Amino acid sequence: MNSFQYVTPRNADNAVSLASDGRFLAGGIDVLGEMKDYIVSPRLLVNVKGLPGTQDIVVGGEVWTIGANVTVAAIEHHEDLKRVFPGLQQAAAEVGSPQIRNVATLGGNLAQHSRCWYYRQRDLRCAKRGGDTCYARDGENKYHSLFSGGPCISPLVSNLAVALAALEATVVVRRGGKDVTLTIPELYQKAWDEVTAHNSLGPTDLMLRIQIPNAGRRSAYQQVSEKAIFDWALVSCAAAAKVDGRKLSHARVVLGAVAPIAYQVEAANELLEGKELDDALAARAADLILKDADPLAHNGYKVPIAQALIRRTLNQLVA
Ligand SMILES: Cc1cc2nc3c(=O)[nH]c(=O)nc-3n(C[C@H](O)[C@H](O)[C@H](O)COP(=O)(O)OP(=O)(O)OC[C@H]3O[C@@H](n4cnc5c(N)ncnc54)[C@H](O)[C@@H]3O)c2cc1C
Ligand code: SF4
Repeated sequence: MNSFQYVTPRNADNAVSLASDGRFLAGGIDVLGEMKDYIVSPRLLVNVKGLPGTQDIVVGGEVWTIGANVTVAAIEHHEDLKRVFPGLQQAAAEVGSPQIRNVATLGGNLAQHSRCWYYRQRDLRCAKRGGDTCYARDGENKYHSLFSGGPCISPLVSNLAVALAALEATVVVRRGGKDVTLTIPELYQKAWDEVTAHNSLGPTDLMLRIQIPNAGRRSAYQQVSEKAIFDWALVSCAAAAKVDGRKLSHARVVLGAVAPIAYQVEAANELLEGKELDDALAARAADLILKDADPLAHNGYKVPIAQALIRRTLNQLVA
């Protein structure tokens, strides 16, 4: 690994001013891996993990907040989160392994970089790393996107992003001396638009906390992976809705690991509005969500998995 300096700022503004020269470090699971593999070589690591106010979970009221440095394990084991936002708890429980969840933070999970094996190969400079070729498009694309907005087909693999998108959470970011609030779609829009972007955050944008509206909706999360632990999802699905018997309102269905964003289709959410969920309705919603899927040579298997996950996750909501 290249040599680097390490600094622990006292507050968020210090952290932001230092980051122009380096990278934020939270749990380090992702950024240290990238450094060891020579994918990135920051001169300075800005340790944000102890920043005041970023390790708290504040429950109750119309909006619940989770600090950016709360660990994935703390989300997984928090009894109130489990009760009110079970979809988020289920998504957290599926991240990596217990060891990873004990160290990984919410902010780091949301901002983790591409897992594309060409991106992670030190001797290749694919389009995401500033080169001119996407090696995955005509290469080994088994784990890649079914939907994309540009040349990069590396999917968003953060479990928490998918669950938070269904819950319509927002992210408070310290940007240029003030706090701005981004929706989850806004947090990833740039990854859809720009080949080199992993998300919409600039190098000095610091996530402070996530806000989740407590709108009395049920939530659920399911994924399919190759391995039971220590693995990312091949496809994941989160859903949230108000449920009355089997009748859904304010439903949101979101797919992960199939696009550079947390993928949802407004027409499917509208289709579910005010309807009693049955197998036919769930299948129609799945068809709408997957209507524009554009499988590559090796990832067509994701389509039937996504169809099944959408049906299962919706059924879990009303169970
Ligand atoms: C074997 C393995 C399996 C995994 N499986 C899964 C899985 O199934 N699902 C899943 O979702 N993830 C999975 N992961 C990814 C893992 O969850 C993330 O790497 C981890 O959550 C990153 O969190 P961290 O705190 O360690 O972040 P770090 O590595 O410290 O940071 C990651 C990135 O986020 C930036 N960052 C950190 N905090 C902030 C902040 N507050 N504001 C702005 N930017 C910030 C850093 O600069 C860096 O770019 C897996 C990882 C491994 C190694
Ligand atoms: S999918 Fe993206 S990260 Fe992977 S090779 Fe193509 S441009 Fe690079």
